[in-house]
Amino acid sequence: MARRFIVNREDIQYIDDNHMEIFGKEVKHIQVLRHNIGDHIIVNEYDCNITNMCSHSVKLQILKETEPIGIPNIDVTLYIGMLKNDKMDFVVQKAVELGVKNVIPFFSKNVVVKLDNQSRIKRMEKLQVVANEACKQCGRTDLVKVCEFEEFNKMLESIKHFDSTIIAYENDKTSLKETIQNMKDSKIVKNIAIIIGAEGGFDKTEVEKMLENDNIYIVSLGTRILRAETAALNLLSIVMYELDS
Ligand code: SAH
Repeated sequence: MARRFIVNREDIQYIDDNHMEIFGKEVKHIQVLRHNIGDHIIVNEYDCNITNMCSHSVKLQILKETEPIGIPNIDVTLYIGMLKNDKMDFVVQKAVELGVKNVIPFFSKNVVVKLDNQSRIKRMEKLQVVANEACKQCGRTDLVKVCEFEEFNKMLESIKHFDSTIIAYENDKTSLKETIQNMKDSKIVKNIAIIIGAEGGFDKTEVEKMLENDNIYIVSLGTRILRAETAALNLLSIVMYELDS
C-alpha cells in the first residue's frame, strides 16, 4: 500500500484536472522518507505519482481517487471542554479511531486551561496533526477536522445546526439507552453532536441554556463520575455502535 500524506487545502495548488503541486510540512516529510520522481503516494484522497520535487514543493500527477475506507455513515461532532495538553491529544486520537467527524474544543466557566489567541491557533494546528496521524494510522481515507475552539455562547449557536445533540451530564439521570432508542425512532440521526464538559464539568446555568435548544438530549453515563476523556470515548463508542449502520 502506498504511503499516505495529508496536506491542508491551502497548501494545494491545482495545475489542471490531473496535476497538482503541494507545499508545506508534508513536502519535508516526503523528502525525509526519501521519495523520488515516479513514486506512487496517496495525498489526501488521491492516488498520485510524483512528477517533480524541489526543496519547497512536490508536483504530482493525480491517477484516481482512492477507494473510500473506514468512513462512518453518520457525522458525529465531538464538543469537549478544553482539557490539558496530552489529555486533549489523547481524546482527539482515540475519537478519530472511533469514527468522529469533527472535534470542537470549547471554553466554558469551569474550564481551567487558559490560552491567548496565538496559543489557541498553535494548539488547534497541533491537534489537527494528531487527527491526521490518527486517520493515517487507523486507515480511514477521509479527513477529521479539528475546528476552531469555541466560547460557550458560540457553541450554543453552532449546535443548532445538528439533527440531534447529546449532552453528558453527571447530575442527570436520563437513560442513554432510552435516549438512543428515541433518536432511532425519530429517524433523524445523520448529523449528531455530542457534548462533554471539561474536568470541572458544566455550571448548572450552562446546562439550562443548552436545554433551551431544540433536539437536545441530556443523558447520564451511569452512577460513577467519569473523567472527561473517559466520558467522551464512552459516549462516542456507544453512539457509533448504535447509530452508525
Ligand atoms: N462536575 C464534576 C465532574 C466533571 S466530569 C466535577 O468537577 O467533579 C467531566 C465531564 O464528563 C462532565 O462534564 C460530563 O460531561 C462527563 N461525565 C462524567 N461522568 C458522567 C456521568 N456519570 N454521566 C454523564 N456525564 C458524565
